[in-house]
Formats: sequence, structure tokens, C-alpha cells
Amino acid sequence: MAVFKGLPISSGKVSAPVCLYSAETHRSVSRRSLDNDREVDREITRFRNAVAQCSEDLDRIHDQVAVDVGKSEAEIFLTQKHIMNDPAIVDAVEKDVRETRTNVEQVITDVYRRHEEKFALLDDEYLRERSTDLGEIRRRLLDNLSNTRPGFKCQGQAHCTRGKNRVIVAQELTADMMVRMNLESVLGIVTEHGGFSSHAALIARSVGVPAVSGVRGVMDAVQCGTPVLVDGDDGRVFVNPTEDTIAELTPPDEVESDDVCLLQSPPGSEVLANASILEDVRHAATVHADGIGLFRTEIQFMRANRLLSEHEQFEQYATVMRIMDGKPVTFRLIDVGGDKQLPFLRMEQEENPSLGWRGARFLLGSRDVFSTQVRALVRLSKKYPVRILFPMVIDSTQLKKLKDGVREIIVAEGGTSDNIKLGAMFEVPSACVQADTILKHVDFGSIGSNDLIQYLFAVDRNNEMVSQDYNPDHPALWEVLRNLSRAARDAGKPLSICGEMAGREQIPARLWDAGIRSLSVGPRLVPRVRNELMTHLGDRVQ
Ligand code: PEP
Ligand code: MG
Repeated sequence: MAVFKGLPISSGKVSAPVCLYSAETHRSVSRRSLDNDREVDREITRFRNAVAQCSEDLDRIHDQVAVDVGKSEAEIFLTQKHIMNDPAIVDAVEKDVRETRTNVEQVITDVYRRHEEKFALLDDEYLRERSTDLGEIRRRLLDNLSNTRPGFKCQGQAHCTRGKNRVIVAQELTADMMVRMNLESVLGIVTEHGGFSSHAALIARSVGVPAVSGVRGVMDAVQCGTPVLVDGDDGRVFVNPTEDTIAELTPPDEVESDDVCLLQSPPGSEVLANASILEDVRHAATVHADGIGLFRTEIQFMRANRLLSEHEQFEQYATVMRIMDGKPVTFRLIDVGGDKQLPFLRMEQEENPSLGWRGARFLLGSRDVFSTQVRALVRLSKKYPVRILFPMVIDSTQLKKLKDGVREIIVAEGGTSDNIKLGAMFEVPSACVQADTILKHVDFGSIGSNDLIQYLFAVDRNNEMVSQDYNPDHPALWEVLRNLSRAARDAGKPLSICGEMAGREQIPARLWDAGIRSLSVGPRLVPRVRNELMTHLGDRVQ
């Protein structure tokens, strides 16, 4: 048995065999000249086989997504199959292989890139989106030809369960990969890299999968099928655990002792739930959360792997409202960038994505995406009260632009702002410094402590190597929190906190004392946070 130490990022213990996950990319494809006609024919056969196999894959994915997610979400995979088999593209590749006598990987890259660029420049939004599909088809074909598909290492082999009832071991899981996996059947996650507040980590916590990150060298120590025990409480990973270790750490009869489930928050407090997927919303309703304090709308786009239409967004948001049955829901406008990339938007590779094209900046620079989402929410406001939250606001000038953008759309849609409340996130230090001004211009504020800690202490929330400096106990952070609380009180505006720290032990009581009494946490944590607040209030009365 070997024991690895890492960073505990999602609690719980589990013992199961490994499923290795690898993420290959095709940033550089090497060019190879073909010496004779036989080689040319061989390349063309390889290409035709790849197209045939990828077509089968796309059919299979379509059928699965239609069942798991929905028919309209599945449609895209059939569209991609048709594009891939389009005689114009197939002929162009085959002709180029013959004429340039170059390996098919290089030709596919050239031909598809040419088409991608042409489509990306078109005015028609629908056709522009096809450029993204071309990029995905290109990668799929290259994955197939190089036999290094991103995904489970033994994918395609009879024994591969694609993570079902397995512990996934990977270099790093991005939020994008996480939302595409069927997490309901994954038992545990172990990664070599990734911090406590990375989006992958918070998705793992939201679905209650034990996870440990920062486990250097683990990829070399296991193979598909190797038994491991993941201890997400202590941050340990046991490779080939002994029977005794398994018996000691995961006793078969151990029943998860859930806290007594208080159905109401203690007087004067509000315990809401954060949600990324509908399952979170259902969970929130089950534990009688006071509402959804943060609905991360971008996750829906990441799951679908494409832009969602106004109608699709409206339907999703209406479903959330229906599940929450009259309780408030705060929809955060798409917050992408940093560790949440939308590959289909062809966002530039950035040196410092956390300091780059993200949050409010992205929204202001992507008018189509912004308008479509706001239109869906304005439509929603004709049926339900709607709370819209602006992510990563940096100052009052930027906030004004965002508000103007929303106002223009309300007018254009012939709506009113009566049923719409606008809020700003406090997660960038400059916005915290301007809290008094910002709070005057919004209906509510929400503290995004995950990013606030990252930017306040210049510490990457995704990098486990610097996790010792990612410290929610730091007095400098609490000074900022107290100042935000004071500013909200002075402005007479509600303020909540939706970062992960709100759900950590002992923090709810401290937040209460700091005057922050509206807490939004993972749905699983709602009962515990209520209990902690109740105990704290009881102690104070005695
Ligand atoms: C935060 O930054 O605290 C937050 C809630 O937003 P996200 O984690 O999605 O960046
Ligand atoms: Mg944030």
C-alpha cells in the first residue's frame, strides 16, 4: 500500500478502483510528407475510417444526451455529424492529401481551420456558431487519428466503465470536464493539480463526491482498475489499500450522520443555496433553503457546450423558479473566464486568464451573449420576481454600463424594471473599496469570497501549491468583510455571501458577528450552517 498526501477538497471517504482520465490537446500537429501513392491511399483510408468511427460516436453521444439532458441539447451532435460528412469538406480533405502529399492530420487541421475562420466572420449568428462545431469536429477527428482522445484512458475497451462506480484520477479536472462527466455515478476524484476553490472542486462538493487534489505523482502510481481509497476529509489517497485500512476508514455499516435538518433558518438569518445544476436546485428545495443565493448560469452553457438560445435559457430559469416555488432566486449573469472557459466562444488563450477576459468585462464585450441572456431574464420577470447579479464588477463606472445595458433591453422588450432587482458581486478588491458608492446603485450585494480571497492576497484559487496563503481566517479579509457589512447597513441594502467559506465550520457564526447574516452555501451544507447559527445564537442568549 502507498499513501499520498494532498489537499482535501470535498469531504467523504470512498474505496473503489481507478478510472484514469487524460486530457490531450492538439495544439501542434506535426507535418509529414507522403513519399508514394501507397502512402497517399493509406492516409485517405485512415481519414475515411476516422470519419466513420466519429460518426458512430456522435450518434451514440446524441442518443445518450437526448436521454440524460434533453432532445434539443442532443441535436447539436447530429448537426456535427452532418457537417463532418459534408461532401464539400470530405472532398477538400482528400483532394489536399493527394495534391500536397501531406499527412491527413495536417490536412484536416488546415482545411478545417480555413472553414472555421470563414464561418467565424459571417454576420449570421447561426452560421457563426457552426465555426465552433467545425473546431470540435476537427479535434474529434484528430483525437481519433492519434488514438489519444481526451477522456478515460481505456475508453472503447470492453472493461471501461467511463468513471461509473470508479474513482477518477486525472492531472487536473477543469469545470468543463466536470460538467460533461456523469458525476452521479462517479465515486471519488483525485487530481495532481487544483485548489480548494477551483470550480471543479466546488462542483465535486455540490454533488457530494469525495475529492483530493494536489496529489503529485499519483498518475504514475496507478492504472485503470488499481484499487484506491480516497479520504476527502484528511486529504489522503491510499493506493492498493489493505483490508484493514478499508475496514478502518470506510466501515461498511457507517451511516452518514446528517445534521438534524432544521426546516427554517434561525430568526434574523437567511440560509440560501448555491446552485450550478438543476440537481442542486432540487436539493435546495428538499432541505427547505430560503432560496437560491447564487445560480451559476454559465454552467448551463458549459454543459451544453454551446450558446443557449433565449428560449432555452428562459425555460431553464423558469424551471428553477418553479422548483423553488416562490422563494427568491438570484441568477448571476454568465461568469466565464479564469478556470471556466467556453471553448466554443473561441476565447483567446491568455497569459493570465484570471486577470483577463472574464466576468463583467466579458459581458460588456460580448453584446450578443449579454443581450440574449438578459432578454431571457426580462421575459422571466413578466412571470416571476427576478434577481440579476453582475459578476466580477470592478467599479461603479463598470456597474453603470452593465445597468444601462440591462435597462436598454428592458425598454426594447417593452418591459418594466418593477419585477427586477439588480445586484453586484463583491469579489474584486477595487469594488470593495468603492462599496459605499456601488451599494447606492444596486438593490443588493453578494460577496464572492472565492475570488475575493484570490485577488486580495494575490493567491491563485486553483493552485494547491499556494493553498497555505488562501486563508479565509486572515484578519485582512475580515476587515474587508466588516467594511462591506457596514457599507450595506449604511446604504440600507441587503448583503449576502456566496463564496465557499460561508459553509466552512465556525465561519457562519463569525459572519453573524460581523453583521453578515444572509449566507448562500452548497445545498448539502444548508442544515449544518443552520445548526451552527442556531447554536451560536443559543450561546449568546445564555
Ligand atoms: C466567488 O467567487 O466567491 C463566487 C461565488 O463565484 P465563483 O466561485 O463562481 O467564481
Ligand atoms: Mg467569483
